[in-house]
Formats: sequence, structure tokens, C-alpha cells
Amino acid sequence: MIAHRICPLCEACCGLELGIEAGQITSIRGHDADVSSAGFLCPKGAALGELHADPDRLRAPLVKRDGAFVEVSWDEAFAEIERRLPPIRAAHGPNAVAMVLGNPTAHKAGLLLYGARLTRALGTANVFSASTLDQMPKQLAAGWMFGHWLSVPVPDIARTELLVILGANPMASNGSMWTVPDFRGKAKALQARGGKIIVIDPRVTETAKHADRHLTIRPGGDVFLLLGIVHTLFADRLVKLGRLAAHVVGQGELEAAVAEFAPERVAARCGIEAVTIRELAHQLAATERAALYGRIGTCTQEYGTLASWLVDVINTLTGHLDEPGGAMFAKAAAFAANTLGTPGIGKGITTGRRRSRVASAPEVFGELPMTCLAEEIETPGEGQIRAAIVIAGNPVLSAPNGARIGAALDQLELMISLDIYLNETSRHADVILPGFSSLAEPHFDVAFPQLAWRNTARYSPAALEPPAGHPAEWQMLVRLIGIVKGRGAAVDVAALDDELAAEDVARAAGPAAPMVLAQVSQWRGPDRLLELALRSGPYGDRFGMIPDGLTLAKLVAAPAGIDLGELAPRIPELLRTPSGKVELAPPALIADLARARADLDRAVPALVIIGRRHLRSNNSWMHNLPMLASGKFRGAAMVHPLDAARLALRDGGRARITRGERMIEVEVEITSDIMPGVVSLPHGWGHAQPGTQLRVAAERPGANLNAILDDALRDPLSGNAVLGGVAIEMAPIADFGNS
Ligand code: SF4
Repeated sequence: MIAHRICPLCEACCGLELGIEAGQITSIRGHDADVSSAGFLCPKGAALGELHADPDRLRAPLVKRDGAFVEVSWDEAFAEIERRLPPIRAAHGPNAVAMVLGNPTAHKAGLLLYGARLTRALGTANVFSASTLDQMPKQLAAGWMFGHWLSVPVPDIARTELLVILGANPMASNGSMWTVPDFRGKAKALQARGGKIIVIDPRVTETAKHADRHLTIRPGGDVFLLLGIVHTLFADRLVKLGRLAAHVVGQGELEAAVAEFAPERVAARCGIEAVTIRELAHQLAATERAALYGRIGTCTQEYGTLASWLVDVINTLTGHLDEPGGAMFAKAAAFAANTLGTPGIGKGITTGRRRSRVASAPEVFGELPMTCLAEEIETPGEGQIRAAIVIAGNPVLSAPNGARIGAALDQLELMISLDIYLNETSRHADVILPGFSSLAEPHFDVAFPQLAWRNTARYSPAALEPPAGHPAEWQMLVRLIGIVKGRGAAVDVAALDDELAAEDVARAAGPAAPMVLAQVSQWRGPDRLLELALRSGPYGDRFGMIPDGLTLAKLVAAPAGIDLGELAPRIPELLRTPSGKVELAPPALIADLARARADLDRAVPALVIIGRRHLRSNNSWMHNLPMLASGKFRGAAMVHPLDAARLALRDGGRARITRGERMIEVEVEITSDIMPGVVSLPHGWGHAQPGTQLRVAAERPGANLNAILDDALRDPLSGNAVLGGVAIEMAPIADFGNS
């Protein structure tokens, strides 16, 4: 049997073709007809069968008794939660229970949509997610400029002539905050039609190796490079807003604010010569179709929001925002807030509606920084976190100072993990609720079509039968909602889901709610929410008013998906700012420039560390699959030959990396692919902790980069952790290999 489904492992969302026999995956290849990925898949997608069959993947709920996990029935697991969770809320209030959401949540509609419902039911202010580890700056900058958190422009790679990539490696990632399957193929096509790719990165990344030009940049120096470019655009009279002139405000404030950031002034701080900064500005301005794309490296630093903002400021000032071949906005078929409400105007975004208790970090997009989680558990007082529900998250490995997080989790009165693995974080739980194989549930992407290289709509029915008696993750979450609402662990999940859907529809549709509910009655769970979102979305049938419009039934009948066309200009319709304009100079960002100004002359540390992405890895949770873990070890620390000589490091030897009192031991890889003064180590490793069940990963555990990073370092606007560009020391370990 052949089944088609969207890969749930990363943002590229490739369409796959699965061969299935007797409930087992016999082959995986790219689905040639897929309207978004056209047959592409990467090694991670090919390993989906191993994930399905992984003997370490949990198949039954676990409850910790006397310090050891024991398998229990689903009823016993939820009874344990019902016994322990409501008393904590009753005694200490809603904020006593934290929600912690990991990256895979974004790839599973059941977790994303029903996780949000559980958060609402809990009414807790203590919400944390992986967003404040690597992407909140981009969302915050987009929110201030365009009025919504997911109105993030992406390069129109199919038509651009110049793609400038800053702090990103799409050849390995296939896009991040940019859904671009087969980036390699699209980059080749770009170059074949005469276009150019410039990569700016401290490392000669896989993308840099295929680029027409690579410039090294000092880690954390992005904001200074970008300010130098903006300064040049104004100083050299290169600004041309074109069609957007009537839709942009703040140009004057912006020009005044960047006056001090001439290329000569920022060159030392970013490590790029003034002449090159000017050249970049002129090249971007002179190229008819060009896009600047910034990602992880620009976000995971102390100026993350400033850098993310300046990327789109440059796209705007050079006339490339919302233009074909420039940085454009997708128009998703469902769940996109920038397709709802009144086109062209809105409430914009608000931050700081509350602050974390201990560090006083502002709430952003409903969340507090992940780097505040441990202290909010440890610190007594009103609002202290006493229980946590962790959904597909592994902050012990993926957040700075994970050891502190692990110790804090052990202080909780109750920790519940929804996780398919007994990993470095879930081992601290009292109850683990594992989802079944993702191949046994339907799949659609809630967020990523809003960031896609092309407008498409796709849906995958379940490819396999779910295991008998094993609830879907959304059903587990409904059951938790039942417990939180006082309806008990034995709540009728289907009936409560009907109630929740009816409440949502009543809010959105008012008097039309009964008609709308009747029209979607064939669907349940996340499918019903998709049907509602599709039919009321920009391509939808409006519940019968537009007969040709989209419905879920039409998507189900199109296993390769439905193509909705290339990206098209959306300004002003997309805007949801109170002014109805693109805000070029949001006050909080202009004010934050003072920090950058004061930092212009900071001395450069002798050695700093950055992360990196590999095609066969994605954060911490794919290291247990033999297909991905085999071959050359990919967790070594890259060191430039000059630094290696200075520090007496040997290729293949071991070294100690220290930052303050914290230390990790790493394998050394000496390579001129990294710039002098910089060490690169991928994050998500460190699988040597006791009490986990990740046998393949434990064979080559690697070192946990985040273990040495500082949880007090964050971008003050977005709360995003600073994961790169921090000073370290490195020394050989005096073993036989280093002697
Ligand atoms: S790039 Fe790989 S992991 Fe990502 S969606 Fe495609 S096949 Fe899956």
C-alpha cells in the first residue's frame, strides 16, 4: 500500500510517499507530485520509519513510583494526575502550574491547537516555549512592523536575483521561519538564471560553500553590519520605497536614529570592512529583485530583535518588501491571523502585559522567557511554579544552564510530560503520556504555510491504524482540560471536545454558530478545527457561500495538495498595525538602539562560541535513530587552525570548554571552515544523563553546548536566550591523544 503524508520533522514540511506492508513502513521517498516539495526529502524524512519502529519510543504511560518509572494503564495515569494536579491549583492558584512547550509541538496540530486550549483552561501566566530560545525576536519585530506575530516575510526565492543570507544555513535546514523544501535545488535554479547568493556567517556553512560570495562576520555583530547598511542607504540616497511609499511611516525617525552608525564606525564591531558594508548596501539597492534573509544567528544573540527588525527595514528601504523576487508574505489557507478581521488595520501587538516574578522579564506573545523557568520554580513566594506540564520539550538539553533546569524540575510537586521518549527532561517527570506514532494520525501544518516559499494547502490522513486503546495526543489534552475544569479524569472526551468547539464557534460566528457547527459535524478534534479554519479562511467556501472554495473534503481528495499560487503582494491588506502602515521605527526598537550605541567599542573576546545545524539533526530528539546517528560524529567542536595552534589542540583530540565555573568536554575538529576566534558546537547533544531511554543516542552522547551558556543572558525586548557569541576558554585535555 502507498500512503502520502507531510513530513512532521522540520519546517520544510516535505510531502512523502510511504510504502506500507502489514503495518510497517517498507519505503520512504519524496512525493513527486507534492505541490510544495515536488519529490524532495532529506535524510531525516527517510528515517521516519525508524522513528516509527524505534524500540525506545514509549508505547504506554509511565508513572514514577518510589523513584522509578512503572508502566500503567491510561486510566491509572490520568487518575494519578487528577489526584495531584487540582489540589496544587486549589492551594496556590492558576500560576502554580506552568506550561512548557517544545519545538515538536509546532509540527503536530493536535499538540499545538489543544495545547493552546489547555493553557487557556489553566489560566496560567507561566507559559514557556522553545520560541524564546531561537525565534521570538523575529516574531516580535514582525509584530511591531506589520501588526501580527506571524506576519514574517520570506524570500521569494523562485524569482529573486540576489539572495543575501545572514546567520542562516538553509542548505542544512531547508528553511527556518521559512518553509523552503529543497533549498539546494532552488538555490541552483537561482544561480542558473544568473542570480547571486551571498552568505554572511562566521562559518563556511554548507550554504556558504554553494554561494557566490561568503563574508565572515563576528558572532553577535549582525546588528552593527545591518545598521551600517541602513546608514549607507540613507547617506548615499539609495532609499526607494516604490509602491510602498504610501504605506510606510517612521522613515525620518529611523534616519535620525542610525546617524551614528556609519560603516567606518561599525566595521570593527562586526568584523566587515566599511567598503564591503557600503558595497552590500549598493548591491541590494541596485538589484531589481533582491531579498535579505536573517535567521538563527541573528535571533540568538543579545540584539536579536534589533537585528531581525533591521533585516526587514533593509528589505523595505531597498524597495524589495512585498515585491516579487523580494521578501514577501505567504497567504495561508487556514489559521493565519493576518487574513482575519479588517484588512489593512488592526490592534497591533502588545508586550509586557505582565512580568516574570524574579527577573521581571516582560511577557512576549503570551510567554515568559524559557531562561526564567528555573528561577520561577526555585524562588518561593506568591506565583511560584509548583507543577509543570511539558509538551514535547527537552529544555534540560535545549535551554541555557540545563542542569539548573533539571534540578528545578525535581523540586516540582508534580511534573507531567507529553513525550514519546524518556529523555533528559521527561526523566524528571512524575507522569509521562506518550503519543503514538505520528504516522498513525492525520497531519496538517498550522503555522508553516504562513512562512512558505509558495502558497499551498495540504493535508495528510493517518497512514497507519492507531494502536488499540491508545488515545491521540489531542484526546490526552482534552482529558487534562477535563481535570482542570473539575470534570474529572473520566470525562467524556468526545463530549467535552464538542463543547469546546461549540464555544469557539459561538465566539467567532455569533448567531450563525448552529449553522456553522452543523456544516462541520462530520469532523472531530483537530480536523474539525482545520475544517472551520479552512472554510472561513481566505480561500474557503464560507460555509457554502462560495461553492468553489476550499473545504477539508477537497484537501483530503488532493493527496499532493492544492497549489494556491506564487507569493503575491499583500500590503496594505496584510497589515494589522493600529496605523494601518508598515512601522519602520517602532519606539521600543529606536530606544533599544541606545544599547547598541553604547556597545560600539566593546572589546572582542579572544574566543567565542556559536552553534550550528546539521542536515541529519534537529535540536535534541533525532539522535536515537541509527540512520541519522551513523557515520562521522557530528557533535565535534570546530576550531580554526590558528586557534588550535595557539591552544595546543589536536584534531580528533579532546578539549575542555569552560565559561565561568561551568565546563564541558568536547571532541575537536580543526578546520578552516570556521573563522579564527570562533568555536562552533551544535546544540541538542549531551545524551549521557542517567535515567533516560535513548540507547542509540547514548552511544555517542556528545557535549551539551547549552550547559555552559548563561540563563541570565537574554535579548531584553524579546526575552530570547543568547546562545551564540559568548566568550569561552578552551584547553586540551591531557590524555594520550593530546600528548
Ligand atoms: S527537509 Fe527532511 S526533515 Fe524536513 S520536512 Fe523535508 S524530509 Fe522532513
